[in-house]
Amino acid sequence: MAGMLLIISGPSGAGKTTIARRIEQAFDDASFSVSVTTRPKTPKDRDGVDYRFVSEDEFQRMIDAGDLLEWAQVFDHRYGTPRGPVEQALRDGRIMILEIDVRGARIVKQKVPDAFGVFILPPSRDALLQRLRDRKREDEEIIQRRFREAQREIADAQEGGVYDVFIVNDDLEKAVTLTQAVVEAERRRRLR
Ligand code: 5GP
Repeated sequence: MAGMLLIISGPSGAGKTTIARRIEQAFDDASFSVSVTTRPKTPKDRDGVDYRFVSEDEFQRMIDAGDLLEWAQVFDHRYGTPRGPVEQALRDGRIMILEIDVRGARIVKQKVPDAFGVFILPPSRDALLQRLRDRKREDEEIIQRRFREAQREIADAQEGGVYDVFIVNDDLEKAVTLTQAVVEAERRRRLR
């Protein structure tokens, strides 16, 4: 099978994590890239599964050692993609899913030009704001900040050069089915 680096991005609250995990389950040979981050662990996070939580020093050590394929500062913390597992997956012809932000995606596209980019869009601005509120993870000031960030990220993504498809998540099952179909089609195209 043809290896494939699959980038999935989208503003927080657009449902990209759920979609990325469903794609991981849908393909036998897909794995989810576990990012390293300096952000504090929340009760919902599974260490080593959702993220690997590291100190600022450890993060810097990984940058200096060249262990990260890309990294970015998102909100107040740093997030990065460990290089080793990505390279191994591509050598093995597997799918590696990177759920990363737009700036990180731009760097990955420069390094791995045939990475395939999917951007998940919320159905509307109002729906995005509502979803950020429904997560009940943050207070209103932070929600507003994430909302402004989300709008900036959508505008950046639409500038072009990184994402091959934009998928509107107004119905989760439809968005998953569509993303899966697009990935399957791209994989078949690469095998020809
Ligand atoms: P959260 O803290 O809500 O889990 O993630 C915040 C943002 O960081 C999301 O947009 C997510 O896609 C992004 N992110 C997570 N891991 C990485 C990474 O390894 N690299 C980059 N560039 N962004 C990441």
